Amino acid sequence: MQNGSTCRFCESRLQHTLVDLGMSPLCESYLTEVQLNQMEPFYPLHVYVCDNCFLAQLEEYVSPEAIFTEYAYFSSYADSWLQHAKNYTGLMVERFGIDARNHVVEIASNDGYLLQFFAQKGIPVLGVEPAANVAQTAIKKGIPTLTKFFGKKLASEMLDEGKGADLLIGNNVLAQVPDLNDFVKGMKILLRPQGIITMEFPHLMRLVEGNQFDTIYHEHFSYFSLITVEKIFAFHGLKIFDVDELTTHGGSLRVYASHQDAGTKSVGPRVTELRDREVANGLTSLNYYFSFGEKVKETKRKLLEFLIKVKEQGKSVCGYGAPGKGNTLLNYCGIREDFLDYTVDRNPYKHGRFTPGTHIPIFPPDKIRETRPDYLLILPWNFKEEIMKQMSYIRDWGGQFIVPIPEVSVY
Ligand SMILES: [Zn+2]
Repeated sequence: MQNGSTCRFCESRLQHTLVDLGMSPLCESYLTEVQLNQMEPFYPLHVYVCDNCFLAQLEEYVSPEAIFTEYAYFSSYADSWLQHAKNYTGLMVERFGIDARNHVVEIASNDGYLLQFFAQKGIPVLGVEPAANVAQTAIKKGIPTLTKFFGKKLASEMLDEGKGADLLIGNNVLAQVPDLNDFVKGMKILLRPQGIITMEFPHLMRLVEGNQFDTIYHEHFSYFSLITVEKIFAFHGLKIFDVDELTTHGGSLRVYASHQDAGTKSVGPRVTELRDREVANGLTSLNYYFSFGEKVKETKRKLLEFLIKVKEQGKSVCGYGAPGKGNTLLNYCGIREDFLDYTVDRNPYKHGRFTPGTHIPIFPPDKIRETRPDYLLILPWNFKEEIMKQMSYIRDWGGQFIVPIPEVSVY
C-alpha cells in the first residue's frame, strides 16, 4: 500500500492488510427520519496488521470525540452482560479481597452496569465515561462518574485528588483507544502500588477463527492477541500475571495485571499456556493474518445467496437487534430493506431511528408479533441463545432464526 501510516503502539510502518471491508458509516450513528435525506459520512474500514508487534489496527479515520460524545450503547439493556458483570464482582471480592477499604475505578463505565454491583457491597467506586448521555444515566443511579476521556493527563489529576485505584477495570475499552500508549501509561499512573488491573477485550485469535469480521468497526481501533498486549503492557511497566478466556463478545480475554515490580504477583501458568498456543496457531507469522480476508468474502457470498433464495420464495425476513456489529455486516454485505423489512431493538433510544448506511427502520421488539416474519436474522449473534429463548414464540407461526456468523445457519 501507499500509505504512510504507522503502528499505534510500536510506530513501525503499516504495510499489510488483515481485511478491507470497504467504506462504512460510523456504526453507532443511528439516523432520524430527517437525516435520511441528508449526506451521510462513510469512512474506510480497512484493518492493517503490524509486521513488528502484530497489533491489528484501523487508522484513526474519525476522532474519538466524534464517536463517543453521544453514544447509543447502554450496557444495561443486555441481560447476560449484566449477569457477567455481577459474576465478575463476586470473583474480584473473593479472589483479591476487594472491600470497603479499597477504591474501584472503571474506565468506560458506561451506564454504571458494573460499578453498581461493587457499590451495593459498600465499596467506593468511581466511573470514567466520556459519553455524556450514558454517564448521566450512571450518575442518576448514584454511581459517581467523570465525563472525560482517560489518559495520562486525567490519571495524574485523579491521583492528585487521592483517587488512585486498587482495582482498575477496563472492559471493552482498550480496543477503542486511539492513543494506546497514552492510555496504558495513564493506567500505570493511576494504579496504586499493590493494585490490580483487569481488562477485557475481544481476542484477535477468536475473531479470526470465528470469522467475526462484523466486530470490526470504526470505534474499535485495535485488535489484540495476548502476545501483543503483553508487549504493550511491559513497555509501560505493567505485568500480565493471569488471563481468563471468556465467551463474551464471541471470545474475549480478561487479563490481570500489576506493576512490573509488584513482587507479590508471579506470572501464572495460564499466561504461558495461552502465549504458547498463540505461537503454535501462527499469530507471530504474517501468513496467519493473510488468510482471513478471503474467508470474509466467502461469508458475504453465502449469506447473500441464502437471503436471495428465501426472498425469491416470497418469504419475509426481519432483523433482531441493531448493534454496532450488525451495521458492519449490513453495510459490507449491502443488506437493506430489499432483504430486511425492518429490525427491532430493546433500546428505546433506537426506536424510530434507522440503521446507519443501510437505513433499515428500527422498532420495539413487539413489532415481530404484529408482522409474523418467516425469518429473524439475529445481528447480535453473541447473544443468540438468549435471543432465541426470548423470541421462541416465532415458532408459533413457523418462524425460524438465521445466525450469520461464523457462517449462515438456520435454527
Ligand atoms: Zn507495531
